[in-house]
Amino acid sequence: MSRGVAAAAGAAATGRTTRPLLEVQGLTAGFLTRQGPLVAVEDVSFHVGVGETVCLVGESGSGKSVTSLAIMRLLEYDNGTIFGGRILLDGTDLVTQSQEAMRRIRGRHVAMVFQEPMTALNPVFPIGDQIAEAVMLHEGKGRAEAWARAVEMLRLVGIPEPEVRVRQYPHQFSGGMRQRAMIAMALACRPRLLIADEPTTALDVTIQAQILDLLRRLKAELGMSILLITHDMGVAAEMADRIVVLYAGRVVEEGPVDRIFERPAHPYTMGLLASVP
Ligand code: ADP
Ligand code: MG
Repeated sequence: MSRGVAAAAGAAATGRTTRPLLEVQGLTAGFLTRQGPLVAVEDVSFHVGVGETVCLVGESGSGKSVTSLAIMRLLEYDNGTIFGGRILLDGTDLVTQSQEAMRRIRGRHVAMVFQEPMTALNPVFPIGDQIAEAVMLHEGKGRAEAWARAVEMLRLVGIPEPEVRVRQYPHQFSGGMRQRAMIAMALACRPRLLIADEPTTALDVTIQAQILDLLRRLKAELGMSILLITHDMGVAAEMADRIVVLYAGRVVEEGPVDRIFERPAHPYTMGLLASVP
């Protein structure tokens, strides 16, 4: 999609104000190290409206992954911790949820796709089992129905011969197909919010474009909201309704995609844009 078309789509999408689905308010998070607390993101606030695609952009090390892991409450599994702030998903504060409660929320209400699909896919189980497992956990379906959903999801994400593929293991999938399977797993229980952390960074350029097209199509078909994390302003230009710019762990500016590209307010954003071909 050309910049002009993307800007028009963004303007159309942001012309209406949508109810916030995700509200991150004053999030401060990081790690407890031997040298003391290491703050990776400080006082970060932004929101994702219902039906919106918001791109969180910033160079490597700016705190994008820490922010996404904090929202999923997976930061704790990376020796991280949330020092303060609120993360409201449809009004429920995720920061105060127990990990037990989060197990029911993840996948059901908010799901995540990682740069490297093997972060989430288990190498020793067939793809179908992993998708079916989520459906059984969240929807209380029986194995047969959950398995049928797995096949349906693989078909939806454009995996050929889904009835055959569903029985295969992650290593039998190519990188692009694995990322499709990861997206199928994330969306199997129709979460309202999908967080994608650099979902195309590990892929070839042509496969990257296919995965972005897939996310756009699924968003239109399933009607979820997307928080897309990328260091690539070209990806943000194509996908975003709004852009949130993170620099050294802080939000330095945010706005509709066309405004950010035409009149960036912060010098750091101008620098990021200068790298777009
Ligand atoms: P990004 O995703 O934008 O590239 P990250 O969110 O991964 O950046 O990292 C933000 C900061 O947190 C960086 O300074 C990074 O070194 C630090 N960091 C990330 N993960 C850990 C960890 N497990 N332990 C200690 N510091 C970490
Ligand atoms: Mg990252």
